[in-house]
Amino acid sequence: MEIARPSATPEEAPAARSIDPRTGERLQRIIDQTYARFKDVDDGAVATYIPELGKANPKDFGICLVTVDGQVFTAGDWEKEFTIQSMCKPFAFQMALERLGTEKVLRHVGVEPSGEAFNSIEFDPKSGRPFNPMVNAGAIAVASLLKQRPVQAGVDAFLRQMGRAAGRELRIDESVLASETGTGNRNRAIAYMLLNSGVIDEEVLESLHQYFAQCSMLVNCRDLAMMAATMANIGNQPRTGETVFDFQHIKHVLAVMFSCGLYDYAGNWAFEVGLPAKSGVSGGIFAVVNRQLGIGVYSPKLDGQGNSVRGILACKELANRFGLHAFEFSNVGSSFMQWVL
Ligand code: GLU
Repeated sequence: MEIARPSATPEEAPAARSIDPRTGERLQRIIDQTYARFKDVDDGAVATYIPELGKANPKDFGICLVTVDGQVFTAGDWEKEFTIQSMCKPFAFQMALERLGTEKVLRHVGVEPSGEAFNSIEFDPKSGRPFNPMVNAGAIAVASLLKQRPVQAGVDAFLRQMGRAAGRELRIDESVLASETGTGNRNRAIAYMLLNSGVIDEEVLESLHQYFAQCSMLVNCRDLAMMAATMANIGNQPRTGETVFDFQHIKHVLAVMFSCGLYDYAGNWAFEVGLPAKSGVSGGIFAVVNRQLGIGVYSPKLDGQGNSVRGILACKELANRFGLHAFEFSNVGSSFMQWVL
């Protein structure tokens, strides 16, 4: 399949607008207010099905916003590290598209929302493929495409590219990796079903290791916001200027995030927040405001669908106050800040 040339290459696209200091101050004020407004919300429960995740401090709450011109705004526990969990999935999908091309990747995973939970054991009845790369089955299929020999080489390649997006070196939390490997029987079951239907090859344990290791990478809110801003910035890291992601695939990854990024809450999220985003069971959420911003939030107490309670509230608030919804009428190109602030 020929990949259509995007209408604007990074060179042709209009330059991102810089944020002046006064706008920056107002932006920081709104982030501080959002943090203060939700920091005492105490609903939800920390995930414990991966035992090591149960050790998270339920009080932690951090917010970070990074603009495409590299300005960073933070509140609360933005430096606190946690494992990326399912938030690795869009990036892994992006890397698989870059390395193998759209046609080959789509032979292994679809792009259809499933409306099911992240760990559902359901496959597209027509194709036998996992529904999309944001559910575990799809992410394991993608991990099997990214794995290398020896397995550590595939994990290292993932860490390197993610580190370039974050703008700092990243590492695996070995205790979470061990915890997840020890208890991930449901994911093992999914992987063997994928082998059975020919979606992944017989190196099942290697594919699972790649997947578990990706999920166990440590990040903080700033890293997530940097990665998101790199996607928003046509694949160029906003502070280092380095091209980290191939822009030709970003629109496809954002489209899948938009329709499938928040587990079985994805439709409500698209309706209310209206941003491509991904959540993870560690309590993080990142969202991409195309050509404008990256947002990273963290708070480990989750709602019934596995999404961070305070994280969702914070994203809703920021989306409302800044007019970030993709179909917001005030959000014209990259001029929303001019309009709102
Ligand atoms: N590593 C987790 C699992 O596969 C990721 C789940 C998530 O964050 O949604 O169970």
